[in-house]
Amino acid sequence: MKKISLSGQKLNNNIVELTTFYSLRLYILRDYHKVINRLEKLNLPVNIIGVINTYPIHQFNLKSQVVNPKHILITGGMHGDEPASVEAVLQFLERVPTQLQQQFSFTVIPCINPYGYVHNTRENQDGIDINRSFETDEVPEVTIIKEAIDNMHFLFTIDFHEDYEAKGFYLYEGKRDEQYFGPEIADKVKIFGPIDSDDSGEDTTEIVQGVYKVASKWGTKGLAPYLIHFHTEHVLITETPTVWSLKQRVNLHLGVLDTALQML
Ligand SMILES: [Zn+2]
Repeated sequence: MKKISLSGQKLNNNIVELTTFYSLRLYILRDYHKVINRLEKLNLPVNIIGVINTYPIHQFNLKSQVVNPKHILITGGMHGDEPASVEAVLQFLERVPTQLQQQFSFTVIPCINPYGYVHNTRENQDGIDINRSFETDEVPEVTIIKEAIDNMHFLFTIDFHEDYEAKGFYLYEGKRDEQYFGPEIADKVKIFGPIDSDDSGEDTTEIVQGVYKVASKWGTKGLAPYLIHFHTEHVLITETPTVWSLKQRVNLHLGVLDTALQML
């Protein structure tokens, strides 16, 4: 075994390297096996739609017994440093959505970016923001999602996200008929925490405070605009502030989903 010198220049170099490393980002390794174990315990119909690095991406297809059910898509974990988005999808599945299946069929993808989830990075293992890449076919996660939902059409889609700078929650909404649900939903879920009072920072229009349009000028680079263009009548993005507790953030995501399902 090579002995590492703990004196002089070598030590200084190591400290510099460590300091730089830790100052770049909070270094977290999450255990994706805990997610997999929870998903396997559900005993629900599931497909592995792709594997990134060694991490499987799961897709649940929960079919309704009724003819012509309302088809819903639920996604989390697009950005790996937004863990409440994955937790919200897991808790939705763990609630056993049997009652809801009398009206709805669900396609559910709990974690689009497992490498980012494990390494606490917004981007995938190549440093690419998947949510800006839906206009290309060169990003593996994008190709996996596109193929998995090919030929599917949804009445409603929800994509869970988080915001490190926000002090409250906010929503983005895209709806083909522009009859927006967002203002009513935002008002109802205020019981979980306040609406963020700052501007979203994205180039878009505010419908009411805390509800912004999925703008057509965004093209189809993001999942939400891609879906509204090709696969869904209606999409919501929920954004929770990471300063809230995990429980509060999950309650907000699920509160938005529950309220939206009641309105469909
Ligand atoms: Zn995000």
